[in-house]
Parts: sequence; C-alpha cells; structure tokens
Amino acid sequence: MAPHSDAYWEERFSGRARQRIQSSTIRELLKLTRQPGIISFSGGLPAPELFPVEALAAASERILRDKPSEALQYGPTEGYPELRECIAAQQGVEPEEVLIVSGSQQGLDLLGKVFIHPGDQVLVEAPTYMGALQAFNPYEPEYLSVQLGDTGLEMDVLEAALQTRPKFMYALPTFQNPSGWLLDLAQRQQLVELAARYEVPLIEDDAYAALYFNGKPLPTLFELDRARGSNNVIRLSTFSKTLTPGLRVAWVIAPKVVIRKLVQAKQGTDLHTPSFNQMLVYEVAQGGLGPQIERIRAKYQRNRDLMHAALSAHMPVSVRWNRPEGGMFLWLRLPEGMSATELFKRSIEQKVAFVPGLPFHANGGGENTLRLSFSQPTETQIQEGIARLGQAVESLLGM
Ligand code: PMP
Repeated sequence: MAPHSDAYWEERFSGRARQRIQSSTIRELLKLTRQPGIISFSGGLPAPELFPVEALAAASERILRDKPSEALQYGPTEGYPELRECIAAQQGVEPEEVLIVSGSQQGLDLLGKVFIHPGDQVLVEAPTYMGALQAFNPYEPEYLSVQLGDTGLEMDVLEAALQTRPKFMYALPTFQNPSGWLLDLAQRQQLVELAARYEVPLIEDDAYAALYFNGKPLPTLFELDRARGSNNVIRLSTFSKTLTPGLRVAWVIAPKVVIRKLVQAKQGTDLHTPSFNQMLVYEVAQGGLGPQIERIRAKYQRNRDLMHAALSAHMPVSVRWNRPEGGMFLWLRLPEGMSATELFKRSIEQKVAFVPGLPFHANGGGENTLRLSFSQPTETQIQEGIARLGQAVESLLGM
C-alpha cells in the first residue's frame, strides 16, 4: 500500500494548526538565509562563543555527582525550588509569584492559553515580537496595535486603545525585538498608569533587560507598577540572552492566582521545565552572571558600533535606522513605498540576509522596514554584509 499524501494529513489538521502553517511563511523565506556563503543579519541568536561552556561542564559534573536523583527525576511544575527562590529574591517577589518555564516562548503560549478567548482583543506594539504573535495566534485573538516610532509609543492612540478594554497589552519596553527600541521613563510611567486606569493587564516581555550597553537600567514596567502598590503587570524574562538559549530556562512573574492557572496549563504541556537544565542554570547563575553579561554587552556594543558605521558608509541618504542602546537588533526604514520583502529577494542573490518588517506587524504595515541583528556576525561580515545590502538597496531604488 502507498503511504498517504500530505493532503491526507493536512485536511485533518484543526483550524488552529492551519493558521499556524500560514503564519510560518516567513520561516520558509528565512530558510533561504541558511544557504552556504550567506552573511546573515537575520537570526536573533546570541553569539555562541560567549556561552560559558566550561562553567556549564563543571556544573554538570557536580550536579550528576551530588544530586543525580533530583537532576534526572520528575520535578515540580512550578520549577526547581532553589532557582525559583533565587529569582524571587532577585526580583523582590515571593517564590509563589514565580513560574519557571521552558523558554519565555512557552510563557507566551501559556499566557495565550489562559487569557485569550477566540475574538478577544489583544493590544500589541507595531512592530512587535513575531514569536509572540505566533504564540497567541492559535488562541484566535484580534489585534489592536499602537505604533512605535521615533518618539516611542503614540500615547493618544495607546489611550484610545486601552479605553476599549482589550484583554491585555503585550509590551516590549527594553530593546524591543525587532526594533531595538527602548521606551523612556516618562512613557513607561504613562503606560503603567494608563493600563492601571483602564484595568488592562500588561504583559512585559523583558528578554533583553540585562543588555544595556551603558548607563543605569530604567525601572521595568513591573517595578513601576508594584511601586504604585498595584499588581497589574506580568513580567517574562529569560536566561536565553545572558546564559544560553539551548537550555530553555526562563521565568514568568505574576500574581499568585495567575501563576496557579499557568501551572495547570503547563502541566498539560510539559509537566515541568527539565530539572537538570534548571539546576545547571541555578549552579552557574548563583556564582553571579556579572562577568558573563559584561562580555556579551561588550561584544554587542562593538558590533552595534560597527554596523552603525557601515550603514552610514553604504546606505543611500533616504534610508534611516536607529542606534539602539542595548540588545541585539537594529531597525531600518527604507523610503516609503519600497518593499523590504523585495529587497530581501535581491539581498539573498547578493548573499546577505535580514528579516523583513512585515511579519512583525499584527495588522499589516511596515512593508518598508527591516530588522538587522548584530549579535552574531564577525567584524568582516558586518562590513561586507552591509556593503552588499547597500548595493541591493541602490539597485532596488534604480540608482
Ligand atoms: N521574547 C522575545 C522578545 C524574544 O526576542 C525571544 C527570543 N527571540 C523570546 C521571547 C523567546 O525567548 P526564550 O528563548 O526564552 O524562549
């Protein structure tokens, strides 16, 4: 008997799954970036040479020697107690307000699962993190969006949107993926106050919070909200950008009632985040991640400077971009009417890749924008890649 065709299986997929297939078109496009010889500014990947391999190897040995049954056994859904307590102490909350998750990506999925009814409105920034849209989409929300531009969030649009009482707002105030944008203190305060006034919970995705290149970090939305005596903010953070993404260890901080519900949802998903990975993270993070984070910051800051200088040297004057003060991404705006997806096709021919801005927009728009990641490439790749990108822009502009 012949095996079934793909169609046999595809017609059995749920509506949710079909939607997921459509939204991964961009992933298909991005597969092209893995061709040999491509200089890629597309992946949001940390620089692998900065993974603390030796510290992790030593910690693995210690754990397997001293605590093998805990490391290799099922564990509590809430997380490895020591790690949970350590995060709670650092963040100034109670352990019961912390849930360890398998990547903040899982946190986003669980939040979607427990909060979104089909048709609920969810307020997002434009642009926003594509992975959050992918996590929320299967729960069938409708999106409201507020533009994030050179002056931050459009506050009057934000207030009008909050007045319609969406289920929650998903915000990335610190070196946003994709734009690298940092929301200033005044706007953070306004956002927290408005969300509290209209009783719209805020989900703060703070994956890049540790990656300020200079200066003192701004208070998080979570901290500003708690300082007002409120508990309207849920905060996601992760060890992916400071330690390693491969271990898949991150956390959610939320009111206890929300954590209890997320725990139920997580039980149906993976029972718990791998015990061994949590113990590894705990062992390494306990010694202090300070020097590790300094190395990451120094490399990314240098790469940001190199990329900024290369863009100034190679881009036509009609192209604009920002100079992020931290994180991994830089946002580029092509002249109005020019398509970054078209540019992507041309750039691939020139063997350089980035991510077009369109899929970061929940309600369309942003066709002329694109994300450049500066965390991974070498100095030569940045110089050569940006020169090639400049040529691709010029050829598309007919220069
Ligand atoms: N949120 C944002 C804003 C991110 O950029 C990423 C990683 N690309 C994630 C969440 C997912 O991170 P994790 O590895 O913790 O799942």
